[in-house]
Amino acid sequence: MKIADSFPAVPASLNSLPSTRTMYRALVRRDSSYEGVFLTGVKTTGIFCRPTCRAKKPKPENVEFFPTVSEALHGGYRPCRLCRPMDSTKPVPALVEQLRRAAEAAADGRVTDKDLAAMGVEPSTARRQFKAYHGLTFHAYQRARRMGLALRDVKVGRPVIEVQLAQGYESTSGFRDAFTRIFGQPPRDARAGHCLLAQRLETPLGTMLAVADDAGLRLLEFADRRGLERELAGLRRRLKCAIVPGSNATLEETGRQLARYFAGESLAFELPLAPVGSAFQLRVWAELGKIAPGTTRSYAGMAAKLGIPKAPRAIGRANGSNMLALVIPCHRVIRADGSLCGYAGGLWRKQRLLEHEQKYAR
Ligand SMILES: [Zn+2]
Repeated sequence: MKIADSFPAVPASLNSLPSTRTMYRALVRRDSSYEGVFLTGVKTTGIFCRPTCRAKKPKPENVEFFPTVSEALHGGYRPCRLCRPMDSTKPVPALVEQLRRAAEAAADGRVTDKDLAAMGVEPSTARRQFKAYHGLTFHAYQRARRMGLALRDVKVGRPVIEVQLAQGYESTSGFRDAFTRIFGQPPRDARAGHCLLAQRLETPLGTMLAVADDAGLRLLEFADRRGLERELAGLRRRLKCAIVPGSNATLEETGRQLARYFAGESLAFELPLAPVGSAFQLRVWAELGKIAPGTTRSYAGMAAKLGIPKAPRAIGRANGSNMLALVIPCHRVIRADGSLCGYAGGLWRKQRLLEHEQKYAR
């Protein structure tokens, strides 16, 4: 499997959970290294919890396990008031952050088990937490990051052979193969190419995935959105480049503005946007951007504004193909009778977003 394909297109819901026995044991021990790996629904109370919750532990036959908050919610459970499993603005686990920083500090982007041991970190625990939080293994992350460094070097004109040796590849073909697998083209041709950077962002409504390059933000979606893999594949194809984990100024600013949005401090986004779509889609999305927070518009209203009153259906489709959730506010379009209609991120999110905006709009 390509690295670029394995990240970040695997929705958290598809990540396999550990065995039920392992999870139940972790639950009884309140093992914090499983924090973020699974959630438990208690059938007798209808409540879902973190593994470390201090509430009395249920009998095995009364427990259901879920990989994500949204799946626990869809399973009909409500969040526990003791351990607050919905407070997903929780910071990145310290251990995960430590690993990421170590990989970034390492000149060659390589952090070995020996390095981890020297940091006082138990490698298997660290790797499990990293995988649970970022949705890809620490190994794959480092490999992708090394290749990102290699691409940068090749782009500024450093000879391929030097880059290859600096990345620790002794054989030219091994380097070329690894490079091509990630970026879709051999190193020699990559100078003109670029890659898309992808970052996870935590919000009170669940994890979002943000993708950007130098042109601006290309995608912002809830990670469990249906069709996300198709969208990512579409971006790779349209822009002819790979998606690798990383960050840039646009992604950092996106994270800051999302935090302000969910805190109710500012519902407006001011970000460089670079949506990918047809001329018609771009026109519809630009119109969506004019719907003020705290207000909604119907499909017919959209069609009238765009001067194509007979085409509400085409507008509905363009709405649904928006890849920049929240910042292009497709959630503000509802039916003429006021009822919500489809939202790829789930109707419960659309409802919550509109309530949130009504509360804080000024
Ligand atoms: Zn709890």
